[in-house]
Amino acid sequence: MSPNSAPPTSSRAEALAKAGALAQLDKMAGGHYTLGESTPSSPAPSAAFVIMRYDIRERLAEPDGQAACHIDAPVPLGTGAEFVGHVTGEIRLRNLGHSVVARGRLRATAVLPCSRCLREHEAVMQFDVSEDCTLTQMDEPGSYVPDAEYQEPAPIPILDGNIVDLSELVRQLLVLSLPARSLCSPDCRGLCPECGANLNLTTCDCQREATDPRFAPLADLLQTRER
Ligand SMILES: [Zn+2]
Ligand SMILES: [Zn+2]
Repeated sequence: MSPNSAPPTSSRAEALAKAGALAQLDKMAGGHYTLGESTPSSPAPSAAFVIMRYDIRERLAEPDGQAACHIDAPVPLGTGAEFVGHVTGEIRLRNLGHSVVARGRLRATAVLPCSRCLREHEAVMQFDVSEDCTLTQMDEPGSYVPDAEYQEPAPIPILDGNIVDLSELVRQLLVLSLPARSLCSPDCRGLCPECGANLNLTTCDCQREATDPRFAPLADLLQTRER
């Protein structure tokens, strides 16, 4: 199978490059991000770093072969965000000959700052997966760390001949699905633009004077007419 050389789209590549740098940092910081089997001398990975591996290569080997992977595992490191609980769902892989298509649905809960008041809150992410992938044999799985030059479609590593590891694919999908804006509640009142008070918790004197900037032209008009 030839490596894919499609040029990445810029925004997607940027998002992934940012998270990729974080994954690299995680690895350097001693996180169990590497996908290699632990050697007898290395400590066994803790339960918090269970990796998403599936023994499905045989089922995928034939053209049109397919396999379903049930996902219920801790969120891979290097997403650039904090998560609570597991990432869950299902990814079905199907061998189309020239590529492998991954389809399914994933669910995870991120801890994000509110876009209005900055309060951290849990945001449930649920999204469909539809990705063209390639399978890439990793002779040295430990060296599999995403770098700045992302391949697209995302390569799915095959370890030890038969084991397919979905953690990098899942990590990329989570990064790409993180919402740019998230509110702690739909009616969050945000921070006072004048004094910074959290208007969900308190009121302030400047609050009454503050006007929505969109109404400024209207206020000007009223003042003009009063004169
Ligand atoms: Zn808020
Ligand atoms: Zn204020």
